[in-house]
Amino acid sequence: MVARGIARLLLSNDGEAALELTVEPWAETQKIPPKQTWAVVTHSPEADGSWSGTLRGDEPFQVGHRPESVTVWVNGDCFHLSDMDGNFVDSADRHCPVRGYDS
Ligand SMILES: [Zn+2]
Repeated sequence: MVARGIARLLLSNDGEAALELTVEPWAETQKIPPKQTWAVVTHSPEADGSWSGTLRGDEPFQVGHRPESVTVWVNGDCFHLSDMDGNFVDSADRHCPVRGYDS
């Protein structure tokens, strides 16, 4: 298997209410329960493990925050969202370059 870039981002909801999470560009929306931390994982579409970036090159993620929600822009070909126990919450793996990653 060709080595690919992988990036992980942990998101903690330290508040008392659920936090709305939107994963772009798929516009997938989930709610992180209070006191939970979720992980967003993505794989680079490039063979050399680089990232396309959002505001600048070679950035796997960009996070935008509003009072009651957070938006994560993912600059990979896929995303895999899971809780700290490793249970998958959501994913968009149709174009995942790492086949069988979460199967
Ligand atoms: Zn993937």
